[in-house]
Amino acid sequence: SLKGKTAIITGSNSGIGLGVARELARAGADVVLNSFTDRDEDHALAAEIGREFGVTGRYIKADMSKGEECRALIEQAGACDILVNNAGIQHVEPIDTFPAATWDRIIAINLSSAFHTTATALPLMRKAGWGRIVNIASAHGLTASPFKSAYVAAKHGVVGFTKVTALETAEEPITANAICPGYVLTPLVEAQIPDQMKVHNMDRETVIREVMLTRQPSKQFATVEQLGGTAVFLCSEAAAQITGTTISVDGGWTAL
Ligand code: NAD
Repeated sequence: SLKGKTAIITGSNSGIGLGVARELARAGADVVLNSFTDRDEDHALAAEIGREFGVTGRYIKADMSKGEECRALIEQAGACDILVNNAGIQHVEPIDTFPAATWDRIIAINLSSAFHTTATALPLMRKAGWGRIVNIASAHGLTASPFKSAYVAAKHGVVGFTKVTALETAEEPITANAICPGYVLTPLVEAQIPDQMKVHNMDRETVIREVMLTRQPSKQFATVEQLGGTAVFLCSEAAAQITGTTISVDGGWTAL
């Protein structure tokens, strides 16, 4: 059980981050949810997870595009036994017209935020004598697709940064690993299905199979619960010697 551990999950008011926060709470961890908004519903969501699983659920606003706010998130939480770097955005456009500001923003949110949170969390983990860092990379941390230059570069960067974190903590009771999801059915992905159905004049099942999951041999989306379960496993005693590596949850994408 993760009772008594504090988990901070960046970008966790929806999608994979929320799924991971819920599974860590189910396993007994106190959870700190985060995004860049500061709405009543953000705080209510964290409190609701706390009630459902009998843990402490807090929400701390911090914009992961800004280094100081990444650091402030960890400092404000006061403890960080489990750090899940999940916040991420995407932009799809060829390199020659890809806006430079969008490139910088994706590198900041998807890659540099993990540097800032890790730098701030490591002293807390060392003080506590235990730590788990779980970086949500992507199948695009191991393979590439055209038109996703910033995202693919950032996610490969996350995998590299994970390895360095693991080496710098190798002799300590701290591990660092990256989870590499293929396509996951989050609200963001769900919202694309009607548009794709229209564009390709296909029904829902065909669009999922032929368009969205072309590179996912299982022809099934991964779920946020499965990603959460993988994060819980990486926090378990069974995973204490797993460090500096990637776990793909991609229905066979990277085996192709
Ligand atoms: P999502 O859009 O549902 O979630 C992204 C989260 O990040 C949201 O909670 C959002 O509020 C937050 N966020 C965005 N910008 C932020 C900022 N500046 N500061 C703080 N929080 C911010 O998307 P998702 O699909 O759940 O993606 C989560 C992570 O998983 C991302 O890193 C993404 O690259 C990765 N991933 C997703 C898929 C997929 O198919 N959905 C596949 C592989 C990897």
